[in-house]
Amino acid sequence: MINLTWQSILQRQHGWTIEKSADFRLSIEDAAELYENAPLHDLMIAADTRRSKFHPNGNVTYLVDRNVNYTNVCTINCQFCSFYRPPGHDETYTQSFQEISDRVTELEHIGGSRILMQGGVNPELEFSWYIDLITYLVKHHPEIQLDCFSPIEIEGIADVSGMSTLEVLSQLKAAGLHGLPGGGAEMLVEDVRSDVSPKKGSPDNWLRVMEEAQSLGLTTSATNVFGFGETLRQRVEHMARIRDLQDSSLEQYGKGFTSFIAWPVQLESNTFGRRNRGQNKHVLGAGPTEYIRHIAISRLFFDNISSIQASWPTMGLGVAQMALLSGANDAGSTMMEENVVSASGTSKISASEIELQNTIIRAGFNPVKRDSDYNLLNTEIFAGSLKELAAPIPQQY
Ligand code: SF4
Repeated sequence: MINLTWQSILQRQHGWTIEKSADFRLSIEDAAELYENAPLHDLMIAADTRRSKFHPNGNVTYLVDRNVNYTNVCTINCQFCSFYRPPGHDETYTQSFQEISDRVTELEHIGGSRILMQGGVNPELEFSWYIDLITYLVKHHPEIQLDCFSPIEIEGIADVSGMSTLEVLSQLKAAGLHGLPGGGAEMLVEDVRSDVSPKKGSPDNWLRVMEEAQSLGLTTSATNVFGFGETLRQRVEHMARIRDLQDSSLEQYGKGFTSFIAWPVQLESNTFGRRNRGQNKHVLGAGPTEYIRHIAISRLFFDNISSIQASWPTMGLGVAQMALLSGANDAGSTMMEENVVSASGTSKISASEIELQNTIIRAGFNPVKRDSDYNLLNTEIFAGSLKELAAPIPQQY
């Protein structure tokens, strides 16, 4: 195989169209070469051009939603996690149905459309607890999309109940589950995963549960936490595992991941940050330019996932704005609260709808509200007076 230079790889990408995308698909080697050697500015332009071909109307979407972290009891012990507490610890909590419902009511008051509910792997909760919770929420909040329980939680429920993960998903869907959060993918590379979260199981487990969810028609997204000390090629290998599953699920089930969402690992206050005599905190993770490179590579690599999301909770709204100019077409969601990633170092855990609109408008795009399935919703522009401050739409090459 001939190894191409970053210049020739980017040059060839100029001819990319959605219809002919198979002819231009980046190999792992191509993407690793771009990641390692292409100048940031060239990557940003190429990824922005690609975004405009996926989303030619200049729209950037956002979601009004709420995170709910229903329990912090967990037995998995990921080294980068400061959120969980082991069973029996005096700081554990599990929210009641009423407490969760009250949070959903607050979301309804701001015009939200979905909750993203995830917590620890809590062996104290019976399968019936999850079914009863979904049933309760459907009854009291019939308009809200319920995206609940990431693949590792589904595995934990299966373990406690003695059922297969497919059966767990089927019964949750029958009770009213709409989709799964994309959490827990981190790096779908065996070496990295077995080092930072050995009890989470192999990358195959996460992919298998997601495929099962897709086979049932549940909504799913794909995430990626990077900066554990992995190589750039391993970052691309993570993307390749997701791209392969997306090919297969779209062909078999007509439904795959709605989006790809990446962010650097947070290292302020967890075991992983303290490792290597405290050096990890300073030398791992990723800063804004590396994050922007990652977003741009992901936009160029994923020819079969329509939406790339900017991560304001970890990078801030300013860097998220730059991500919108580097291939991302979605500004994420309002969240209202976040307790998992923030426990390891982020401080902004909520964004108002007007903040997201402001971020989008000032980057030169049109804010459009969406639901969990990326259906566009009626959008009231609160930040409309900021139009005159909007950046000109980027020129395409
Ligand atoms: S990241 Fe999730 S699975 Fe890992 S310890 Fe934290 S709560 Fe548990």
